[in-house]
Amino acid sequence: MSLKSRKALVTGSTSGIGLACARALAAQGVDVCLNGFGPRDEIEAARADIESQFNVRCLYHGADMSKPEQIAAMVAHVEAEFGALDVLINNAGVQFVSPVEDFPPEKWDQIIAINLSSAFHTIRAATPGMKARKWGRIINTASAHSLVASPYKAAYVAAKHGIAGLTKTIALELATFGVTVNCISPGYVWTPLVERQIPDTMKARNMSREDVIDKVLLAAQPTKQFVTVEQVAAAALFLCSDAASQITGANISMDGGWTAA
Ligand code: NAD
Repeated sequence: MSLKSRKALVTGSTSGIGLACARALAAQGVDVCLNGFGPRDEIEAARADIESQFNVRCLYHGADMSKPEQIAAMVAHVEAEFGALDVLINNAGVQFVSPVEDFPPEKWDQIIAINLSSAFHTIRAATPGMKARKWGRIINTASAHSLVASPYKAAYVAAKHGIAGLTKTIALELATFGVTVNCISPGYVWTPLVERQIPDTMKARNMSREDVIDKVLLAAQPTKQFVTVEQVAAAALFLCSDAASQITGANISMDGGWTAA
């Protein structure tokens, strides 16, 4: 596979799955732009490490993925700096766990904005260039929650089901332009996003930390193992390859069998 010199933007790539995807692309010679929040020195260290380890250019843009105008500015910045945007991974995401009657409306709005609407805004901005160059890869990090639901995650499940629908729609629109559009649907991946929801899940279900891990998280996954960020990144890399040029509009599960049940 030669992705060398391709240009990529991975949203939400200062940690977890996004950072693993950015590093996997860079290892193939792809120039990559990081995005996300976190301590400035840690972000700069991650950015510099990618440049030195993989001998590629690595940018960082701090666009808030809940702000459409910042998203458009980031895509324009990447195209101006790199001369193109070939691989777009829509990955930024947050979680909030609460019974629906207590679910704060502002949390609903925030999750829909970051986990769903942001992908519309990046795709809208990146599509003209991909169509003109007749090559592109758009990969959305969905979730097992794009296919099935869990209680207390109204906004997250709604957003991820939306991502699955958006993926199919854009795949059809771009099918004749050499641009594929797919989503990857991981089960539970051990990242800060999962760690952070444990205290709220303990509260919502009146359970201990150990019980949340065993009876809520891994209970859903028949393999009884967490997915790794490297496994998700490897799937994304495969979707970028020529071998995957006929895979479009797909929702690829990587969930230890969760959604087979
Ligand atoms: P993470 O918390 O490690 O990473 C989330 C990233 O999004 C971080 O870089 C964070 O800074 C960024 N982010 C959050 N809000 C943002 C905003 N407003 N603007 C810009 N960046 C923002 O979590 P992760 O588990 O790596 O999650 C990545 C994606 O994978 C999410 O879309 C998540 O829903 C999805 N996912 C995760 C799991 C899992 O079990 N961890 C399972 C399925 C899907």
